[in-house]
Amino acid sequence: MEQQTLALHVGYDKDAQGTMAVPIYQSTAYEFKDATHAANLFSLKELGNIYTRLMNPTTDVFEKRFAAMEGGIAAIGTASGMSAIFNCIANVAEAGDNIIVAKQVYGGTSTLTAHTIKRFGIESRYFDIENPSELEKLIDEKSKIILFESITNPNVTLCDFDVITSIAKKHGIMTCVDNTVATPINCQPIALGCDLVVHSTSKYTTGQGLALGGIIVERENLVELIKNNPRYYHFNEPDASYHGLVYSDLPLPPFVLRVRLALLRDLGATPAPFNSWLHIQGLETLAIRMKQHSQSALEIAQFLEAHPKVESVNYAGLKSNRFYDIGQKYFKGHSGLLSFELKDRASAKEVASSVNLFTLVANIGDSKSIITHPASTTHQQLSAKELEESGIHEGLIRLSVGLEDTQDLIDDLTQALS
Ligand code: PLP
Repeated sequence: MEQQTLALHVGYDKDAQGTMAVPIYQSTAYEFKDATHAANLFSLKELGNIYTRLMNPTTDVFEKRFAAMEGGIAAIGTASGMSAIFNCIANVAEAGDNIIVAKQVYGGTSTLTAHTIKRFGIESRYFDIENPSELEKLIDEKSKIILFESITNPNVTLCDFDVITSIAKKHGIMTCVDNTVATPINCQPIALGCDLVVHSTSKYTTGQGLALGGIIVERENLVELIKNNPRYYHFNEPDASYHGLVYSDLPLPPFVLRVRLALLRDLGATPAPFNSWLHIQGLETLAIRMKQHSQSALEIAQFLEAHPKVESVNYAGLKSNRFYDIGQKYFKGHSGLLSFELKDRASAKEVASSVNLFTLVANIGDSKSIITHPASTTHQQLSAKELEESGIHEGLIRLSVGLEDTQDLIDDLTQALS
C-alpha cells in the first residue's frame, strides 16, 4: 500500500469499533480482568494496556501508522521531539560512553548533546555532515549511536546516507536519523539502511502547529545488530529493574520495547492521548501537504536566488545547490524549509520584522508560513564558536514555507526585502 493509504487506515479496526474517526482514549489506567490478567500483563506473558505512562490505545494507532509510513516495524510516541531524541540516547548510552553527532543539528539537539548529557557523563563527538567520512575516526568501543538529521534545521544541508550507514555497519553501531524536516513522505531513512528514525511530530506531522510530540521508529530485525554485540550489552543481560528480562531474547522489537518498559516507566515523557489524536489527524493529510510545501518552497527559493540583496539560498531543490545530486538520490521532495543569507545581522533582523504574511515564530512545519532569525532565537544559546561550527551565520534567515498561495508569499518577501 502507498503511504497515503497507510496514513488513513493502519492500526485501527473501524468495523470492530464502529466509528470512522479514531476515538480519543482519555484514560490514565485500564481495568484488568482479574489478578492473573494483571500479573500476565506486567510480566509480558500477555500484551495489553496497563497505564497511560507506558501505552494508550489512541497513541497506539498513531505509533502503528507512523511506523508503517516510515517502513519500520515498531514505533513509540513521546511527549516531544526532544524527549524522543533523549530517549534514543538514554536507551543505549550511560556514563563513560560516547555518542557521535552531526555538528549541524537543531539547536535543542545541540544543547542536549553538548551540555545536558555531558552532566550524565556521556560525551558527544561531532562530525561534519558535509564530510561524513570523518565520523569513522571518532568511533571507539564506547560509541553507542550515530545521530544526524536527514535535512538539517536550519542550514538545510542533506546527509549522504550511503557513507554514514556503511561506516556504521562496519563498526556494528546504530544510526539514528532525525527525519523531522523531510518527513517520511520525502525520505525514508530505514529503506536507506538506517536503524532508527526520530521525529519532532510538533512540526509537519501535526501540520498546523497544534501539539507537541515526538516519535521513535525502529527498523525490522534490529535485534540482529544488538544480539551479542558488546556495545549493547544491556540489551543482552538481565535487566534488574524488570525482574531479569533480557530484551534481545524477546520476540518483540527490542529498542522500542526498552524505551517503553524502562524509560517511559522511569522518565515518563509520554504523549497525551489528545495530542496523539491530533497527530493522527495530521498524518491523514501529510502526503498532500508535503507536495504543496515542497513545490511552493522551490518557487520561493528560485525567487530569492534571483534577488540582488540575497547572498545565497540553501534549498536542495535548486539545481545550483551543492546538495542537489544527493537530493535527487535520496529524497522525493525537499519540504518547506529553506534558508537564505543576507549581508549581516541587522539586515536579517530588518527583513524578519518587515514581513506581513510570514509570522515571526520559533517553529517550522506549520500550514502558516514562518520566518525566523536563528542567531537571535532558536540558536541564541549557542556560543559564537558553536554557531560557527553549526554553520549558523548572523545574516541567516530561515523560512518555513506554509500553504498560503505562493505568489502572495513572494509578494510579501518582495516588499520586506525592498
Ligand atoms: N528536531 C528537529 C529537526 C526540530 O526542528 C525540532 C524542533 O524544532 C526538534 C527536533 C525538537 O522537537 P520538539 O520541539 O517537538 O521537542
